[in-house]
Amino acid sequence: MRVKFALCALFVIIAAQTTVAADRPNILFIFTDDHASHAISAYGSKINQTPNLDRIANEGMRFDNCFCTNSICGPSRAVILTGKYSHKNGFYRNGNKFDGTQQTFPKMLKTIGYETAVIGKWHLGEHMEPTGFSYSEVLIGQGPYYNPTTLRDPNGNGNRERIKYTGYTTDIITDLGLTWLKEGRNQDQPFMLMLQHKAPHREWCPGPDYLTMYDDVEIPEPDNLFDDYSGRGTAARTQDMTIAKTMTERDLKLVPPPYLNEEQLKVWNAAYEPKNKAFREANLKGKDLVRWKYQRYIKDYLRCIASVDDNVGRVLDYLDDSGLAENTIVIYSSDQGFYLGDHGWFDKRFMYEESYRQPLMARWPGKIKPGSVSKELVSNVDFAETFLDVAGLDPTNEMQGASLLPIAKGNTPEDWRDAHYYHYYEFLADRRTAHMVRRHRGVRTDRYKLIHFYNLGEWELYDLEKDPREMKSVYGDPEYVDVQQDLKQELARLTEELEVPDDSGSVPKNPPSLNAAPRKRNQKPKQDKAKS
Ligand code: CA
Repeated sequence: MRVKFALCALFVIIAAQTTVAADRPNILFIFTDDHASHAISAYGSKINQTPNLDRIANEGMRFDNCFCTNSICGPSRAVILTGKYSHKNGFYRNGNKFDGTQQTFPKMLKTIGYETAVIGKWHLGEHMEPTGFSYSEVLIGQGPYYNPTTLRDPNGNGNRERIKYTGYTTDIITDLGLTWLKEGRNQDQPFMLMLQHKAPHREWCPGPDYLTMYDDVEIPEPDNLFDDYSGRGTAARTQDMTIAKTMTERDLKLVPPPYLNEEQLKVWNAAYEPKNKAFREANLKGKDLVRWKYQRYIKDYLRCIASVDDNVGRVLDYLDDSGLAENTIVIYSSDQGFYLGDHGWFDKRFMYEESYRQPLMARWPGKIKPGSVSKELVSNVDFAETFLDVAGLDPTNEMQGASLLPIAKGNTPEDWRDAHYYHYYEFLADRRTAHMVRRHRGVRTDRYKLIHFYNLGEWELYDLEKDPREMKSVYGDPEYVDVQQDLKQELARLTEELEVPDDSGSVPKNPPSLNAAPRKRNQKPKQDKAKS
């Protein structure tokens, strides 16, 4: 009897929620991989124009201080799905497997009648079925820039099929997203679509339309391209992510990508061979060689972004033309930032600004004021709760962020966070050194940043107002003694509040593997497959 009543009640609740759901707003989350905000013109990029991405900021809000909790691909995705830090969702580093049994925002949206989909890069363990989605079609692992194979689960029930496509992956992911919006979903239900590009991730392979873009221009160099790391500690000096030394022939397109078909290879070689021939003949050395590598790298990176921008334009146009734009919140973000030659680097991982900051722009007609800008400290740990709030749902008690909707609507809560906690774990996990970036954690306020490289026993402190490029740590400087003490207290407070376990015993101080012979230049890096 009791069971019968419970079933009846459940049915009534589901029916009521499904009815309510019909008028709820749609959510379109457009997400890229490694897109630094300083390569978006809405953020004042000095090196490229992104007119379609700028539309989202111009017609909505640009968040200038959005920071990830752990600057690496898989972990950022896990944080976004769960609204929990890495130590709570269990996905600390690439190579972990995402525990799909835990609560996520797509699952919660699905229970109230949302059609939920993830299309594109998943990267939370390639054979882990995405859970909580009515529809999923994802790349396998990193996925190639051309001719991807996807795993498609059209009914969200775990029966997946492999599909091989021909073409440029950024275009294909967009096509798949548009097809799902137009024909794939149940039109009577609101939708939440995570449209997730692989671009502009390493190794930055441009699409066929952009292989010669920027050929006739020189992209401005960052002022610290030749950083000597003298103002910082061991971690900055011993990383393995410089444009000068770490980049491979494949990164630099001195060899073509292996996954092109005959026709694509012909187009590719026609674009790159003349440039490569000129490079080989020039026989560059020293700084000239680094400058050439920077130009090659940054142009390819920006070419990938040009395709992302075009494709974002296609999606925005579709929303306009279909009449969906009015009741759809569009969010653009990337899993973390990236070094665009800043400090002489590519890649991410460090808590320094360029890779710690994420782009975040949100448009919602009638709800978010066009052209608005927020300087509040926000984070990818807030995304899940924001999406739930948009749909009218409360977060779970386990979630550790806060909804950004009040900020987006111009009503920042008085008790909004004034410090943000960061933690990177990948160094020497599974013996991988992952660009030799040491484990660290830290705290950032509006003006200061304290970083603890705990396996090295080293601290760094930055005054971001006086030293926005973080060229000289002022840790231990008597002038900052109070700031330093306050930030240490803040770090302790956040450690307790977020229930962060102690990771300081994770790596021996002088791990033997660091004494192994260094990788030879241009030898394919071992972490190629798992790198994020
Ligand atoms: Ca990434």
